[in-house]
Amino acid sequence: MSLLDVTDLRVAFGPTTVLSGVSLHLDPGETLAVLGESGSGKTVTAQAVMGILDPPAVVVGGCVRYRGQDLLTLPERERRRIRGREIAMVFQDALSALNPVFTVGYQIGETLRIRDGLSRREALHRAVELMDQVRIPAARQRVHEYPHQFSGGMRQRVSIAMALALDPAVLIADEPTTALDVTVQAQILDLLGELRRERTMALMLITHDLGVVAQVADRIAVMYAGRVVEQADVHQLFRAPAHPYTAALLRGAAISGTPPSLRDLPSGCAFHPRCRYAAAVCRTVAPSTVDLGGRSAACHFAREVLVDPAAR
Ligand code: SF4
Repeated sequence: MSLLDVTDLRVAFGPTTVLSGVSLHLDPGETLAVLGESGSGKTVTAQAVMGILDPPAVVVGGCVRYRGQDLLTLPERERRRIRGREIAMVFQDALSALNPVFTVGYQIGETLRIRDGLSRREALHRAVELMDQVRIPAARQRVHEYPHQFSGGMRQRVSIAMALALDPAVLIADEPTTALDVTVQAQILDLLGELRRERTMALMLITHDLGVVAQVADRIAVMYAGRVVEQADVHQLFRAPAHPYTAALLRGAAISGTPPSLRDLPSGCAFHPRCRYAAAVCRTVAPSTVDLGGRSAACHFAREVLVDPAAR
């Protein structure tokens, strides 16, 4: 049994289906990269797992199991307990995740005071420890500073410290380095990798950046138009993609055409107008996910693409 199992998750935004059957899993201690361009549904997937979808988006089907328990059917109180304590999230924009009027120490310690009943002093002490763990220099002094006194990279470290406060088993990081410059990006990715190893925590890293995937991921789920189109071990996938979209991403050349609007998805396989393998069946029949032994792809011709040297 995986730690987190998302099965056939469907989310609608009014009449528009934004996730049309997302299935993925996360094992203890591993890093899963969820890769996709904007609008592919990767952030919505994370929000649905966390139970923080922005209305009017609602889950209309599927399940999200954490240690075998379906989070979607749990009472809100129980779900809130799991959120934060078991599964925590870090966002792209650390500034908006932090409150400008409280010191970072107060904010890191807040969950510990509320959920673990620590005193103010104990919570502050723990906040210093957490800031040390995310390698913020001079944590003992800086714990009394406000978010605007930190650089972008240091602020992201503060929000990671907040997420780690309750020692979660799963950390979901949604484009945690997109707003940062390249050097700081690499430092934050290294930090996430180190924390994952030190804590044997599972990491779900949402990104649009193949370089980020190559740097940190064990496995990858590639999303396109509200579906996971391919899931594989990173080395397998880089060596031989089984989905034409992944193959096109790896080739690095611009993919002809534009990503489809979720309001008006192409019939059959949503990738067919851009796919160089497309055949008549692709225009009418949505492909199911093909099991390729430890990896999978949602394509009528996944087995052919997998062995096609031109796909690499
Ligand atoms: Fe291309 Fe057809 Fe596969 Fe879709 S199902 S990715 S259109 S070959």
